[in-house]
Amino acid sequence: MTPIAADPSSRPLPILRTVEDLRAQVAVWRRDGLTVALVPTMGALHDGHLGLVRRGCELADRVIASVFVNPTQFAPHEDFDRYPRDEGGDAAKLASAGCHALYAPTVRAMYPQGFATAISVGGPAEGLCGAFRPQMFGGVALVVTKLFLQALPDVAVFGEKDYQQLMVIRRFTRDLDIPVRVEGLPTVREADGLAMSSRNAYLDAAERAGAPELYRALTLAADALARGAEADGVLTGIRGRIAEAGFGTIDYVELRDAETLEPVTSVSRPARLLAAAWMGKARLIDNVPVIPAA
Ligand code: AMP
Repeated sequence: MTPIAADPSSRPLPILRTVEDLRAQVAVWRRDGLTVALVPTMGALHDGHLGLVRRGCELADRVIASVFVNPTQFAPHEDFDRYPRDEGGDAAKLASAGCHALYAPTVRAMYPQGFATAISVGGPAEGLCGAFRPQMFGGVALVVTKLFLQALPDVAVFGEKDYQQLMVIRRFTRDLDIPVRVEGLPTVREADGLAMSSRNAYLDAAERAGAPELYRALTLAADALARGAEADGVLTGIRGRIAEAGFGTIDYVELRDAETLEPVTSVSRPARLLAAAWMGKARLIDNVPVIPAA
């Protein structure tokens, strides 16, 4: 454990590098009868991540955030190498949000020489991001399962910003009988509605100005769908609006059941409207709930 200097107003945050250190820290808390929340992240932390930490503080006595840019969820052509990394800044932000420890293992510690295990996920992992990033949810399932088994927290907190990921995590946690409660937090947004994301750092000024249109278009569309508008026309309308705002390739705009993520064409029970589209070099994703009008 290496205490580091953080925000002067807060205490130093212990940084745990190995699973042994992590388990030793959790064991001390367990001995004192304390409950534990885990907040898995890939770092480059913003207020969205800190919202998860604050929620963790409400749900448990102690909160561990993990920062690990997980190579198994990136394809070779994706942004693993250039993904933003700032451990010192992350540690300071976590300390000021009330986090109690940072778990930041190395790639070699998580995937030692000879590592040969994979997890295959179906159900909510099918389609949407799963169609465009086929390796992603298997990689997420692998690293989240490892983090769950390493820390054995009472609860883990994830963002609805990555709604499909949240549903995949809920499903494999249930399917594999992992005794961790999975909690979701609504997306934290910039003042103009853009979902906070580490990848927003890839946007130049003009792209940043057009990016909030994704959320605006989804919100208006969700409203229309909730009032019974026909889905095909609404989805086409979203594509037109975001293309006009400067988005290039649109990976998908889809209406799905809010829980199973199966495709739906009308809204008789809670649904979710989800989209992924490219703005310059940034692949932005967003989603909103669609609640049928009473
Ligand atoms: P990441 O570091 O991007 O892998 O995200 C780590 C966790 O933070 C995931 O559970 C994300 O869903 C969550 N997260 C990222 N951005 C936001 C946001 N704007 N609002 C809420 N949660 C978020």
